Amino acid sequence: MTGTTDFGFEKIAEEDKARRVAGVFESVAARYDLMNDLMSAGLHRLWKRFTVEQSGLRPGQRVLDVAGGTADLAIQFARRVGASGEVVLTDINPAMLALGRDRMLDAGIMAPAVQCDAEHLPFADAHFDCVSVAFGLRNMTHKDRALAEMHRVLKPGGRLLVLEFSRVWQPLQPLYDAYSLKVLPLIGKLVAKDSDSYRYLAESIRVHPDQEQLKSLLEQAGLERVEYFNLSAGVVALHRGYRF
Ligand code: SAM
Repeated sequence: MTGTTDFGFEKIAEEDKARRVAGVFESVAARYDLMNDLMSAGLHRLWKRFTVEQSGLRPGQRVLDVAGGTADLAIQFARRVGASGEVVLTDINPAMLALGRDRMLDAGIMAPAVQCDAEHLPFADAHFDCVSVAFGLRNMTHKDRALAEMHRVLKPGGRLLVLEFSRVWQPLQPLYDAYSLKVLPLIGKLVAKDSDSYRYLAESIRVHPDQEQLKSLLEQAGLERVEYFNLSAGVVALHRGYRF
């Protein structure tokens, strides 16, 4: 018998989480980019740009974008590593991955798009200079397994970048709670005709590890020199750790 895990504020059987998360992203895929811009007032673009800047990537290097969805990060990474480098976009969800692949092609980027679960990455050990996961980790059933897999595929000296919602600066918490638990589902209902999925997204942020807890998870997965950067008063944090 398997244990339980969180699905937003709900407790569900571990084996049901991947299917429930798939339902959310199946439902939001078509409006995903528009909703990201609306919900974050465009801030997600700045958070992602900061992430790419912290990657330290150079032309010719190899990058794996896990749970890459509509390929915002993969497109920027591809411009950094150039034609001699390699970017691989992955996602568990075919609808999100198809959008990502199309967006890369529209941007003139030929890169593999691989459908896979972050908990079982189909790549060789020590293959990538950089692995990234943006707004994906909190949807994974076993975050420890996913982080161990990301560590495994990193080359010695390579870095993992985890961009994720985190714990906002305490004085802003009431305002942020009102926005994310009331306003977000309403925008989801009006624009994407799906308040439940956006309620899940807001709730899943609440039950996700905070900055220090996530730092510990990265260290337990074997990453070293782990540090984090709070963005927008901790609404989001970028964690960076190295494999040595
Ligand atoms: N990285 C993109 C971005 O920042 O815009 C997409 C983020 S979206 C909020 C989360 C993505 O995680 C979805 O595309 C979903 O399909 C993917 N995902 C959820 N669980 C996953 C898993 N176990 N393995 C791989 N991808 C997963």
